[in-house]
Amino acid sequence: MRPFVLDPLFRPLTTLPGVGPKNAKLLAKLVGGESVFHLLSHLPVDVIDRRFAPPLNKVPNGKIVTLQVTADKHIPNERKSKPYRVKCSDPTGEITLVFFHARKDWIEKQLPEGGTVFISGRAEYFNGVLQMTHPDYILPPSRRDEIEDYEPIYPLTQGVTNKTLRKAITAALETLKPLPEWLDPAHQKRQQWPAWLEALTRAHTPTPQDIQTIMEGTALPHRQRLAYDELLANQLTLALVRSQNKKKAGRAFQCAGALRDQFLANLPFQLTNAQKNALDDVDQDMSAPTRMLRLIQGDVGSGKTVVGTLAMLNALQSGAQAALMAPTEILARQHEENLRGWLEPLGIRVIALTGRDKGKAREVLLQQIRSGAAQVVIGTHALFQTSIIFDNLGIAVIDEQHRFGVHQRLALSEKGKGTDILVMTATPIPRTLALTTYGDMDISLITEKPPGRKPIDTRLFPNDKLEQIIAGLHRQIKTGARAYWVCPLVEDSEVLDLAAAEERYDILKAEFGERVGLMHGRMKPQEKDAVMSAFATGDLDILVSTTVIEVGVNVPEATIMVIEHAERFGLAQLHQLRGRVGRGGEKSYCFLLYAAPLSETGKERLTTMRDTEDGFIIAEKDLQLRGSGDILGVQQSGMLNFRFALLSRDGDLLKTASDDARLILEKDMLNTGERGDPLRTLLYLFERDRAIGYLKAG
Ligand code: ADP
Ligand code: MG
Repeated sequence: MRPFVLDPLFRPLTTLPGVGPKNAKLLAKLVGGESVFHLLSHLPVDVIDRRFAPPLNKVPNGKIVTLQVTADKHIPNERKSKPYRVKCSDPTGEITLVFFHARKDWIEKQLPEGGTVFISGRAEYFNGVLQMTHPDYILPPSRRDEIEDYEPIYPLTQGVTNKTLRKAITAALETLKPLPEWLDPAHQKRQQWPAWLEALTRAHTPTPQDIQTIMEGTALPHRQRLAYDELLANQLTLALVRSQNKKKAGRAFQCAGALRDQFLANLPFQLTNAQKNALDDVDQDMSAPTRMLRLIQGDVGSGKTVVGTLAMLNALQSGAQAALMAPTEILARQHEENLRGWLEPLGIRVIALTGRDKGKAREVLLQQIRSGAAQVVIGTHALFQTSIIFDNLGIAVIDEQHRFGVHQRLALSEKGKGTDILVMTATPIPRTLALTTYGDMDISLITEKPPGRKPIDTRLFPNDKLEQIIAGLHRQIKTGARAYWVCPLVEDSEVLDLAAAEERYDILKAEFGERVGLMHGRMKPQEKDAVMSAFATGDLDILVSTTVIEVGVNVPEATIMVIEHAERFGLAQLHQLRGRVGRGGEKSYCFLLYAAPLSETGKERLTTMRDTEDGFIIAEKDLQLRGSGDILGVQQSGMLNFRFALLSRDGDLLKTASDDARLILEKDMLNTGERGDPLRTLLYLFERDRAIGYLKAG
């Protein structure tokens, strides 16, 4: 049960003053959730200093001031287009308040002639006359204290004013009680971090100095604390998942043998050192009686599949089954073809099962999986289904590309007793990110590419150089080249995406004739396969597509990649797309077309693409330029949504949180000692339900 002390944080927004059902909806959207804690995790980005209260004859031009004045005279507007004016004064001078489109009765009520009021806003000289247009505050003396010295400014959305937000947040903060301290006392002291409630309150009442510090990217102890709490909750969850997995008995496989020898002997190349190292890690895991939960991170084309296959052979050698799961149907088919070529000569039965297999044929496949006749099973998400029962699943290899989350990884591992899990991901992730998303796994990196790869010549062109590109394409195709042509994402709309791709397809067809194909997400799997295989076999020269080709397609003969509106893609995605070429022995090109003018960031992103092919550098740059968990794919998969932490800034905290979490589990601090209850409270605070479930299970 959630500790009572957290109740005020989990109340709905409508319990706050000034928040009705309609407002609550808008707010929930703005702050990313429907509870008071979601609201309180929405932090101010700026502050207005309203302390400056000079006499009227000392008011400088253009500054925010708070003034006590007497309303002297109303000058209503004669015409709608003219402003309504109210002349005010103090003993030293005069100021005119200016209102456009104002309601007369409202102004008269706010500023009764002869009455004293406090006003706050930006004062400006206009033709020598001091004016304030639409004061932010007009209050009678009795309500003077509603004007805060420092007014925090929040990110807003249509229909939600800063005042509404501020009022709700202030009220929410007042309902809170201190929470038990979950931080290690020595660590907290060293960092000079305040208690949780104080930190949260301070975060909502920043001084101008605070904002300056944040803008400079320097740490503020109270904000750091909030970020650390969140990261600790995240790391603790992953550490729990991890230890839970380690607790389950695994199987000790024999990591060598005839199958491996034969496979390596047939392979037309030597493993790279990076592949060998990754395989050593895998062997060590698989030969141990605990279960493997390992991530292989390696760039597109770095040869992860071979390592994954060798891992599967470990299980097969010991008589168990192996599963390989791909993120899409196309990729599953491609793996099938690949693995058949490699494994059938060793007498291994490889089958593929996707959503496309229906009825009787599917029954036959299921039966083979159940009986163990199918030794290697390749598939998509469909492999998660409960109807699929393995005879003896030893290892599941997941070719992930960010599309599966922790839960799915676990679901798959439940398919067998102590099944080993190997995840291969093609998008290099910065170290910090890897820790937050894959903190439950051990990680191997493949940082080296197979030898003989020629660098991809990447060039940037503004969109209006399209004709030049097409002319170049004509020349290249005459010499036998094949090209991908990727059309942009249009506002997240599949329909519009498709329209853009179809339009480009028509234009290229008019240029190049029938040897142009079109592929998009709305096609049936069979249609996609047909187009893809026509391109792979060389019946098509150009493949126009939406981003559906992003995922792992392998056509070594394709040497040209054209990407339109490259500025709309994330760096990670561009990197994935570019990785489709440069897979054969021929020199490859990538043309990034963009809509000019590019923003500063846009320029930096595209030049990064031009200047490096190293996925890890690109990933770090992506994190740096985007600032947060906005990294493409990671965000889409919903794996990463921090409210207080910003990984580009708080990366160091993450490392500490990770160490802290490990120590907490090692010493069993969740169940014993002073930090136990507080730490559980922390997990509840961040709704780490799964972790909490594990705590109960013990
Ligand atoms: P990834 O899955 O990491 O994107 P793949 O495993 O698909 O990469 O490998 C890309 C290509 O490189 C494949 O055609 C594969 O056969 C080949 N390859 C893999 N390892 C090596 C190696 N050590 N030497 C030469 N070619 C290799
Ligand atoms: Mg691959």
